[in-house]
Amino acid sequence: MATTNTNRVLDYLLIGGGLAAATAAEGIRKRDPQGSILIVTNESQLPYHRPPLSKEYLRSEIGPEGIYGNGGVYVQLPDWYREQRVEVLREIETTSLDTTQKTVRLGDSRTLGFRSMLLATGGRPRRLNVPGTNLSGVHMLRTLADSTAIREQLFEGKRVVVVGSGFIGLETAASAVSKGAQVTIVEPMARAWPNLVSPQLADYFQGQFTRRGATLRYGYSANAFVAGADGRLAAVRITPVSGGQAEEIPCDLAIVGIGIQLNTELAASAGLEVDTRHGIVVDERLETRVASIFAAGDVAAFPDPIGGRMHFEHWDNAIASGEVAAANMAGGDEPYRHVPYFFSTTIVRGDMSKNTFTAFYVQNDILRAALMVNDDAQMDFISELIAASTPTPKDTKRLADPAFDLASLVIPRR
Ligand SMILES: Cc1cc2nc3c(=O)[nH]c(=O)nc-3n(C[C@H](O)[C@H](O)[C@H](O)COP(=O)(O)OP(=O)(O)OC[C@H]3O[C@@H](n4cnc5c(N)ncnc54)[C@H](O)[C@@H]3O)c2cc1C
Repeated sequence: MATTNTNRVLDYLLIGGGLAAATAAEGIRKRDPQGSILIVTNESQLPYHRPPLSKEYLRSEIGPEGIYGNGGVYVQLPDWYREQRVEVLREIETTSLDTTQKTVRLGDSRTLGFRSMLLATGGRPRRLNVPGTNLSGVHMLRTLADSTAIREQLFEGKRVVVVGSGFIGLETAASAVSKGAQVTIVEPMARAWPNLVSPQLADYFQGQFTRRGATLRYGYSANAFVAGADGRLAAVRITPVSGGQAEEIPCDLAIVGIGIQLNTELAASAGLEVDTRHGIVVDERLETRVASIFAAGDVAAFPDPIGGRMHFEHWDNAIASGEVAAANMAGGDEPYRHVPYFFSTTIVRGDMSKNTFTAFYVQNDILRAALMVNDDAQMDFISELIAASTPTPKDTKRLADPAFDLASLVIPRR
């Protein structure tokens, strides 16, 4: 990797070494073969994909080395960065940004100038502020190092408490169950994903866990991590949210998955507009109010034609927004219009008992979203239907019939 001189001026400076920044670097290089590109990341690794960290990497089915989809987790191999002349400064925090001078200050006191910049600073796990949260044995899951530390302890008979039943919590719990661990999920809500799925779907997902031996403690909150005689985690204390007796669940390992906090401090302290809920405010080209400073990935709060200002903490959004930011940083003029999907009123089409179905979300007779379980053959087409705000049939139950042709929903153009 080439060394970076003090006070260099980069054509493209990308802050944050996650998927959004890495995708942007690829996109910029395709459009501008000569411009200097530098990624600054506070992580020790080259950019990698996070989805396997709660799935195949956590289950030790793949190692870290190699590209994701080819046995590893990385976005690109080290050779790619050399060949494409994309520099990566690792383990360096970007501590401040001067939007007038177009410079950033790094944690090692260097200053870098830029012509165009991307803020792709993503998020960090939200901490559970209860006694014992720093005990050895209490984990959070965001980085490759986090996943490595957890996977080394995931084996048969280990007693694991997962705090939080969002996507990360449930995926981690599923991986732990598949490794033979005794898993308990603690969640203050009454059921899984109350804002996302119907009770019918929640029952389905919860049933997948209980059938495999996991214990679900919905309606309970974790109030403390309790140390054993050796000073390590020995139990998680939980209390019913409705009030009542606290109890302790003995465990060897606890994993807290209660969402992320967006890394907006750098942008906010530079005077860029930050939406407290959705992150760094950008226009439909993903540019902030300061020309040539863009944001992408989890941290970008963009105007969505359907939902208003929003951000998405999803893998496909990191890629798609990274691509659009790259195009615009390199002189293009592309709006960001993207229908997100997740891997992982609802109308279920397919057979839940066979674990293959799609749940459609309909609002005011318009198809707004879909959740697919082992049923993604029509994902691109359904994305188009959602992007076009496609009206659903008057009798929405027809959507549930697998024989109903979704193509018939398309409104013919005149
Ligand atoms: C375990 C796990 C599993 C997931 N599974 C799925 C899934 O199945 N499907 C799905 O759609 N999504 C999934 N996601 C979410 C998805 O991975 C994220 O949406 C995506 O990684 C976001 O990419 P990003 O580049 O925007 O941000 P990040 O990946 O968060 O990258 C931002 C980077 O910037 C660095 N950084 C921040 N501030 C600074 C600074 N000041 N200076 C230098 N560096 C800085 C951070 O350390 C980080 O490395 C998962 C996430 C996790 C953690």
